[in-house]
Amino acid sequence: MTDWLNTLKACSKKIRKEVLPLFGSADAAIGFGRGAGGDIMKKIDLAADKALITTLQDLDASCTLISEESGVKKIGSQPADFYVTTDPVDGTTNAVRGIPFIATSIAVSKAPYLKDVEAALVSDLIHDITYTAKRGYGAFKNEKRVQASSTPTLEKAVIGIDLTTVEKKEYITPLTMVLEKTKHLRHLGANALELCYVADGTTDAFIDLRGKLRVTDIAAAYLILREAGGIMVTLEGKELNAPLAPTQRVSFIAAANTLLYETIKKLLRPH
Ligand SMILES: [Mg+2]
Repeated sequence: MTDWLNTLKACSKKIRKEVLPLFGSADAAIGFGRGAGGDIMKKIDLAADKALITTLQDLDASCTLISEESGVKKIGSQPADFYVTTDPVDGTTNAVRGIPFIATSIAVSKAPYLKDVEAALVSDLIHDITYTAKRGYGAFKNEKRVQASSTPTLEKAVIGIDLTTVEKKEYITPLTMVLEKTKHLRHLGANALELCYVADGTTDAFIDLRGKLRVTDIAAAYLILREAGGIMVTLEGKELNAPLAPTQRVSFIAAANTLLYETIKKLLRPH
């Protein structure tokens, strides 16, 4: 059987090699039509997607690929055994602008659902930092075990909220309740990596209630955060789950610990 974590590491190494020369260059932004997730696929996205597919093929890693860029594609002789869900470049705008915060995200599952993800990798391509997780075995940052923080309050926490192109006005007022209590707010532009920052204690929470983030962006970080002891649930407090498909969207509250999550939840849903 495929040793998935090693396979994912090999994929991310190849992706990094293709992506770095394009980072911050005008070339990176050349458009190639719409990707499967609906956004314009840029040269840098296409290069990363190609590198991933080639590496999976070279390593004989049979799977059904679910990519934000190239869509659903069967690879190898037994494609129904595993699903590989990816956003080859998370933070494409950062990549094009030369903002050094971009990641590749790859998740492996035996069924095409978020809750079934059992191996995951998110790699910070600029700083060569790789987060991995295997279900039941914890989360790691460059082979070192990580744990989400125990920061209990918003006054002490550093939190991320994605408010870009928010259309659901009903969430804006509750979110301002959170903002009133938040001393340290960050949004860095690559949600997969921002969730890994919650996993390793760099930050303490990340909220995205827009209903716009694709499941391909968070499939890997979801397992990494959970294996680091963090929480990632719906606004209603239910376990996050969704079909793994290029156009599937999700909303969630991710928090480092229960105390902080309860604080955020009470502000967002006071009744
Ligand atoms: Mg992308």
